[in-house]
Formats: sequence, structure tokens, C-alpha cells
Amino acid sequence: MAQSPYKGEYQTFIGLEIHIHLLTESKVFCGCRNVFGSEPNTNVCPVCMGYPGVLPSLNEEAVRKAYQVAMALNCHLNEKAVFERKNYFYPDMPKNYQISQFEYPFGINGWFDLELAGGSTRRIRIHDVHLEEDAGKMIHEGGISKLDYNRAGTPLLEIVTEPDLVTGEEAEAFVQQFRQMVRYLGVTDGNMEEGSLRCDANVSINESGKGLGTKTECKNLNSSRFIKKALEYEIKRQTKVLNSGEKIIQETRLWDEGKSRTSPMRTKESSNDYRYFPEPDLPPYRPEKKYLSEIESSLAELPRERRIRIMEEYGLNEQQALFITAEKSMADFFEKTVYLKNKADTESDSNKIDTAFAGTVASWLSGNVQKILNDSGLSIENSPLSSDRLLSVLNLIENGKISAGIGKKVIGVVFEKDTEPEDIVKDLGMDQMSDTGELQGVVSAIVDANPKIADAIRDGADKQIGFLMGQVMKATSGKANPGMTRNLIREKIFKQGYISEDKKNA
Ligand code: ADP
Ligand code: ZN
Ligand code: MG
Repeated sequence: MAQSPYKGEYQTFIGLEIHIHLLTESKVFCGCRNVFGSEPNTNVCPVCMGYPGVLPSLNEEAVRKAYQVAMALNCHLNEKAVFERKNYFYPDMPKNYQISQFEYPFGINGWFDLELAGGSTRRIRIHDVHLEEDAGKMIHEGGISKLDYNRAGTPLLEIVTEPDLVTGEEAEAFVQQFRQMVRYLGVTDGNMEEGSLRCDANVSINESGKGLGTKTECKNLNSSRFIKKALEYEIKRQTKVLNSGEKIIQETRLWDEGKSRTSPMRTKESSNDYRYFPEPDLPPYRPEKKYLSEIESSLAELPRERRIRIMEEYGLNEQQALFITAEKSMADFFEKTVYLKNKADTESDSNKIDTAFAGTVASWLSGNVQKILNDSGLSIENSPLSSDRLLSVLNLIENGKISAGIGKKVIGVVFEKDTEPEDIVKDLGMDQMSDTGELQGVVSAIVDANPKIADAIRDGADKQIGFLMGQVMKATSGKANPGMTRNLIREKIFKQGYISEDKKNA
């Protein structure tokens, strides 16, 4: 075995190539529908099937979304963006070339501030953002291969980072934070299982100070956890190779989740092999300044900015704000609920946010509501719960009509029946028992049934009232008004000169 010429620590370089499927009505160069999961070969036409003599035409919606991402990544926008043909043969690509961008993509030289554990950030450079078309899909079944061209020609945006990431964990965090950002922008659903966000991870190691090493590229990483695991495996493998004095072979490797390892797929072609040349059927794209500034000014607020603003404006702590802003739909829901309350509160100064109420909304969303969302598999924006309905439930609690426990049940019924909280409370008789007479009867029975505890309370063990309250709640299925119950218990034990049978006999 050859001796390793190097004994120190290696430096690691990781660069990602992330593809996102853009959410557009139609494909990028033809009018076919851009949807996932149709019957095979139903969303196809001569353009995306690569028939000779047909002409592509550029989808403006895809261009707009490409610019949104390029801007959010702080890219320089090329004055002239050019489409090029990337030539290779594969059965899922009927034209034998893919229309992509090479020399002049929409955006170049950007950056993304990656948030690291502990709150600091590191700037990861973005090489470029380019628009291209996806290929079809091969389906291997019982010894034969079938082709589905529905996906051929759907818009893909590729984001290429510089090799600035240094650990598998960082790469995973980058993909998660990037995914959150593009979901905020509304350009993709970012679903990794369905392949609408795909990531290839490039990694090399080298002696410190010597710059980039020879890289390998890992594919088949369809969850952000796999990215971390594959890179960590690959870094170990490359370290062993170098330590044994051998060289890394530049190649593409596949991650095998079952075996928890990568294995060689092919030696990587270089860009020369693709014979890129400008697409003669599409003119260079020259965006107008006005168009770009209009896109820029309508760009959605990004996750980090929103999190910071929400902490400041609503007085949420970081934990709460992280939950609320994880998804844009949740942040929208939260802000709308607080806004509706503010608007309804005529007494309060309409510009001043009720931070106590905001905190209540945040804890309902992160607690009870999120639990029901998890159980039902719904997300907040397509669930039967609206900001108006959550506000109704919170109002019912605030006005003493129902307890918090019942409020939780009401939300459960909203999810089941898709009806209004007020109606649910009325129809199911969930109103709090605030009728003194009725409640008095229950309290009296409970106190009588627990003579030792009643005596202890009268002798000063005030905390034991909690136990009796619990019993009353149980007996009334949570409908007893807590404040009233507490008073009635005290009244029965103290004011009426109550003496238990036990005491009397003593
Ligand atoms: P290729 O020509 O193989 O596609 P590129 O230069 O286009 O390579 O880079 C593709 C990705 O690989 C980028 O994300 C880049 O940051 C990363 N990369 C390039 N060279 C290295 C290297 N030596 N080590 C680690 N990552 C690299
Ligand atoms: Zn088509
Ligand atoms: Mg490349």
C-alpha cells in the first residue's frame, strides 16, 4: 500500500446543484399542462415530444419565477440571457438535446446567508441560477422499460452554489433553508419525495490550503437527511483513499439508502462533452428594467426578515417565531388572526398590536392546532380552520362561554364538520355551565363525596381545591366555568360553616 504523503487534517469543499420544479400552468416551451401525476403521455405535444420542424416559445411565467429566485439569491441579472442546447442522448429526452442555459443564465454571482447553529450566518456564494426543461420519465416494469413524456419540457430552475459548504450537516441545512425560501416565494412546492426539489451534492477534500480537490458528485438524494448522510459517507471514503496514497477518481456516485453508502455510477462527463451551443429557435432574452423592478418590488418577504419582524411586532419569543414562520401559510394565518382581533376591538387603538393576544394565538397554533394538523395530514391553508374561526373560538373562551379544554374540542369538530365554532357550541351543548343553581348542585355533591379533602381545605390546604375542581370538571365534561366553580367550592366549605360527617363524629 502506498504511503500517504499527508498527515494533517483535510479541508472539505461541498457545492450543491439544486433543481426546483416551477409551479406554472404550462410547460416552459409549449402550452402543455404542467401537472404531476396525470395518466402517462397525456400532457404532450409535438414541441415537447421533439418532432422536427416545430418551434419552442418561452413561458413568461417561468421567466418571472426564475427572476424571483435569482433576486432572492442576490444575483447579478444578465442583461442578455441566452438559451443553449445541451446535447446528449437518453430515451427520456426525445429531442436529443435539452434546452438550458450555459454562458448567460438569468442570474450569476449571488449569495445566500446560511444560518448556522448558534445564530450566526455564513455567506454561501451562488454560482448561477438558470432555467431549463426537464426530461421525461422511464418506468422499468417486468423486464421492459416504458416512457412517460408528461414531465418532458416542464420548467426546472437550477441553482448552483460555489463549493463553500464544509460539512454534510451544513449542506442539509442549506437545502432546508433554501427550500423554505423558495416555498415562501411561491415558485415551487419543494416536495422532495415527488421530485419537485432535487439536489446533487459535489464534494472534494484536500490538504488544507491547497484549494479544491478532485470531486465526486452524489445523486439519488431524495430527502435532505440523505444529503447529510451521503456527504458524510463520501468525506470518510475520500479521506481513506487519500490516506492510502491513492487518488480520487472524478465520478458520479449513487447514494444507496438501504446500504447507507455511495457507489460509482459513471465517470462524469465534462461540459465539453455536451457541445453546448446557442438555441437557434429562441432569441436571447433581454429583460426591461421596468419589468425587473416590478418583480423586485412585489417579491415576498423572506423567512428570516419575517421572523425578525414578527418577533418585534408581536412580541413573540424566538421559539414561537420559528414555529410561526416555518411555513408562509402559517405566518399568514397568524398575522391575519391578530389583525382581525385588532380590527374588531373598537376600544383598542387600532395600530397597537395586542401582544398578549398574539402570544395566545401563537401558542394555540403551535399546540392544539398543529397537533390536529399532524393527525389529519392537512396543512393550515387547506384545512377547515380559518383565522375567523380560530378567533371565534378564542373569543368564546375569553367571554367565558367555554373553557380552554372545550375550545380545543371545538377546533376538533371544526376540522371534522367544517362548520362555525358558535354553531358547534350551540348544537352540541358545549356552553360552559354558568348557571349557578345547576353548578351548585354538582359542587355540593363533589364536596360531600370528598370529606377528608374538604376538611383539609378548611384547615388551610388551599391547593387541594384543585383536586375538587378536577372532579367537578370531570362530572361536567369540562363545561363548568372554572372561576365560578372555585367560588362555589369555597362558599360551600367556608361560608356555610360546612363540617364533614367525619369531623362531626370525631
Ligand atoms: P461540472 O462541470 O462537473 O458540472 P461545475 O464546475 O459546474 O462542475 O460545478 C458543479 C458543482 O460542483 C458546483 O456546485 C460546484 O460548487 C461544485 N464543485 C466544483 N468543483 C468542486 C470541487 N473541486 N470540490 C467540491 N465541489 C466542487
Ligand atoms: Zn408540449
Ligand atoms: Mg456544471
